[in-house]
Amino acid sequence: MKNLFAEKSRNMTFLGMFALVSATSTLINSCNQKNDLKDSEKITSKDHPVAKIVPELEEDEEATDKRVIYLTFDDGPNRGTENLLKILRKRNICATAFIVGKHSYDSNKQKKDLELLKSDPLIELANHSFSHAHNKYFNFYKNPEAVVHDFDRAKDSLKLHDKIARTPGRNIWRLNNINVTDIKSSALAADNLQKAGYKVVGWDLEWKPTNKMVLKGSHQAMLKKVDSIFFNDLEKTSRHLVFLTHDQYLSDTDSINELDLFIEKLQKTNRFVFRKISAYPIINEVLN
Ligand SMILES: [Zn+2]
Repeated sequence: MKNLFAEKSRNMTFLGMFALVSATSTLINSCNQKNDLKDSEKITSKDHPVAKIVPELEEDEEATDKRVIYLTFDDGPNRGTENLLKILRKRNICATAFIVGKHSYDSNKQKKDLELLKSDPLIELANHSFSHAHNKYFNFYKNPEAVVHDFDRAKDSLKLHDKIARTPGRNIWRLNNINVTDIKSSALAADNLQKAGYKVVGWDLEWKPTNKMVLKGSHQAMLKKVDSIFFNDLEKTSRHLVFLTHDQYLSDTDSINELDLFIEKLQKTNRFVFRKISAYPIINEVLN
């Protein structure tokens, strides 16, 4: 990618706007956009509670034999959103922001940060509810209709184009081929979201915070976890790992450095490609 951008600067001297447009589309395409894995995907383990999908990755030089990582960041716009964007731009890497509708109204700064997220081609926005359950998860999931309404409200207020969603406080999956609920009392609400057309995506690996709400542990430890998940085949879809952390943990220098190093090291191994969540296998097979 660095080479592409060096190339871009040289080309622009000669080709002006044409080069700019080409480079922009290179940037977007390199970061995913919906790739057609569907035809070659197959379910390999029907008796497994999570039916494993083994997609044959596209035979381009980027995807061959590489693992796919989906970097996702929850609860924005929030403290740390600007720092997150700086890291992504520095590393020229794409990610998905699961946005809380209410957070974009909480302050002018958050309103501004939402615009930054929306206008950045590296970022895809997805739905993380309007209210974030007011952080009272048990009560929230007791009322499935209200849960769907809350996600609809976020979709409308954020003007989201599709219905990819993540449930607040719960690692829940509702895709055609993946049905997982971490806390069973939330299952009915999740089913209703799916019936309403939402594609609910949880995560395979979370970088958690300390009690001071900064990133816990080192990037080396997280890199080992990534390897361990792939090695032990613990990801929901073979060769595809959804990574989660939160914008708000990126407000101190150490956390910012650690996330930056984590991404840098992942990129340097040359074993991974990075995509936005809409490129997750089968996610676009449902609905519309
Ligand atoms: Zn959240």
